[in-house]
Amino acid sequence: MPTEELKQDAARYLMQTYTRQPLAIARGRGTKVYDFEGREYLDFVGGIAVNILGHGHPDLIQAIQRQAAQLIHTSNLYYTEPQVKLAQVLVEHSFADKVFFCNSGAEANEAAIKLARRYSHDKYGAGRHEIVTMKNSFHGRTMATITATGQEKVQKGYEPLLPGFHYVAFNNLEELEQAVTDKTAAILLEPIQGEGGVHVADREYLKQVRALCTKKDVLLMFDEVQTGMGRTGTLFAYEQLGVQPDIMTLAKGLGGGMPIGACLAIDSVAQAFSPGSHASTFGGNPLACAAGLAVCRVLLEGQVLDHACRMGEHFAKGLSDLKERHRVVREVRGLGLLQGIELDMEGKVVVAECLARGILINGTGEHVLRFVPPLIITQLEIDRLLDTLTQIFSKQAA
Ligand SMILES: *Cc1c(COP(=O)(O)O)cnc(C)c1O
Repeated sequence: MPTEELKQDAARYLMQTYTRQPLAIARGRGTKVYDFEGREYLDFVGGIAVNILGHGHPDLIQAIQRQAAQLIHTSNLYYTEPQVKLAQVLVEHSFADKVFFCNSGAEANEAAIKLARRYSHDKYGAGRHEIVTMKNSFHGRTMATITATGQEKVQKGYEPLLPGFHYVAFNNLEELEQAVTDKTAAILLEPIQGEGGVHVADREYLKQVRALCTKKDVLLMFDEVQTGMGRTGTLFAYEQLGVQPDIMTLAKGLGGGMPIGACLAIDSVAQAFSPGSHASTFGGNPLACAAGLAVCRVLLEGQVLDHACRMGEHFAKGLSDLKERHRVVREVRGLGLLQGIELDMEGKVVVAECLARGILINGTGEHVLRFVPPLIITQLEIDRLLDTLTQIFSKQAA
């Protein structure tokens, strides 16, 4: 179907919740996607940090095809092998002892919020239910997670929000210490704020946050929905930031494109969930978990993490050079293959210029460009993006 026709039908039949690029994607291979006319685009969006193995990875295709032929869904009334195996892999390669599976990042955070409230309620009784989150954060679009999200634009018009949330400035220990009271159950934060414009948490700050949480028996919850699964060059970002949380949420890259989310926790916390206390019909479905297992195996057994680490360094250096040469680039931020640049101009102009030159990038906020390519992106491809940005910024200055 040609793009124009698809655009018209989308306007007619879909709720208009998205501002879409003028592009219909027909298929993908590796780091490239193709429109219906066969035009090729280099993909630095990767389905918003989801397609970590790129498009059409043979191991992922095979795992999904095999599992689809064997068993797609059973519900959690029964045991299935992929779910237990994926939980085992995640536990063996993280701080966590137990996993709850769901279908998205928002649901993973919803589970984390419920788990924290339940843990605190069981241990300390009613009233100690408050959760402190960060300004400029992003945790999803359900009612609880828009409340957790410290951005008015996602909350506007949906009031009343959930009670018991407080917001503090990211990387500000003093504000956090003041916000934590004897009613606080947990602190929720992203090790790197993604949607909020690629802001990395300071190591020293996180260390102090961990100490505060331990001292007050307040749960530390990391939203690694975007930073997890090798995005920053290690399987999880917390490994590089020197601090372990009590609860961690995953989604985006976990299924390599299949919808799946997970809430991980240490045993003493996970015990707050007992039979009947939380559930999901689709959560941990064999098809999604088989995809998750394939993703984990490629990440853990292959060279992808090392590669992502090296590409991240190359990318960050290239962006810093770009900043030296172009005054329109105000700041370069990120870790591994989650990189962002803050601009003195509107981001969407650059997104459109890149699209016209056959490269997909994503803007977040008005002035930030975010780059979250598949982890298999090559040095040549990164250099091509850097050259393209150079062309665009040079034209801008002229
Ligand atoms: C994308 C994202 C979410 C929401 O995930 P969905 O799958 O869209 O519900 C939550 N937290 C972070 C940090 C994210 O980047």
